[in-house]
Amino acid sequence: MATFDGLPPLREVIDAHGLVAKKSMGQNFLLDLNLTSKIARMAGDLTACDVLEVGPGPGGLTRGLLGEGARKVLAVEKDLRAMGALADIAARYPGRLDVLNADALDIDPLERLEKPVRVVSNLPYNIGTELLVRWLTPPEWPPYWSSLTLMFQREVAERIVAQPGSKKFGRLAILSQWRSTARIVMELPPEAFTPPPKVHSSVVHIEALPAPRFEADPKVLERIVAAGFNQRRKMLRASLKGISADIEDRLTAAGIKPTDRAEQISIEAWCALAREVARG
Ligand code: SAM
Repeated sequence: MATFDGLPPLREVIDAHGLVAKKSMGQNFLLDLNLTSKIARMAGDLTACDVLEVGPGPGGLTRGLLGEGARKVLAVEKDLRAMGALADIAARYPGRLDVLNADALDIDPLERLEKPVRVVSNLPYNIGTELLVRWLTPPEWPPYWSSLTLMFQREVAERIVAQPGSKKFGRLAILSQWRSTARIVMELPPEAFTPPPKVHSSVVHIEALPAPRFEADPKVLERIVAAGFNQRRKMLRASLKGISADIEDRLTAAGIKPTDRAEQISIEAWCALAREVARG
């Protein structure tokens, strides 16, 4: 069957390179090139951007990104077995695909990318949340990336976009929405993947805002949010006791009822509390 880029269909690529999916590597591949092109389009206009892709595997999404016109793609893949398939794609798009055989947790992508950068990945589930938290907590804001378009287990995606008052509202929602906009742009059933995972998946699109919505010291905000949600069933005056001796007064000064629980508090109020705590 002909493909849009003239490269072999992904099933043939997988067979030719012996890329039998490994569970230990979080490998659930997307084999439908229409779908991977659609995910690439969800990231926005790629033509003037470099793209970081974590975990290209046999390269379905990589081909989507290049086909949609990405200026350059840096594809970071831990599995040595995928290098042959990725080299074939690099040869099809001379100078536009840079493949790195490495653990995405160990590299500094900025050394190889020019801004503006968009991150687009069907992430390995075992490191997805860790990578997201790293991308959302850089040393400075705005970060090097302008958007993140990422596939997660649906349950994680729902935590990213959750609103106050929901059981799913927590640290991930606050980190994702304080300095960015976050929305779910696509839902995928298990059958979209080979092999199918046990759970449904969602693509989340996060755009970095030029500045935080509300002022707060990121370190203080992270500390109080971690303490508050660590004991999310407790009232804030109890869960935040370790933050400062007069936490009740500080909660009140921030306009928060000391008897409220972490999940009831808006991002604006969390930031107000971070400013009260930072007063020293
Ligand atoms: N992008 C491909 C697709 O959509 O079909 C594969 C996605 S699969 C869910 C995750 C990929 O991440 C696999 O290719 C796996 O080998 C790779 N991977 C797992 N852990 C990794 C790590 N620490 N660093 C880089 N890649 C990793």
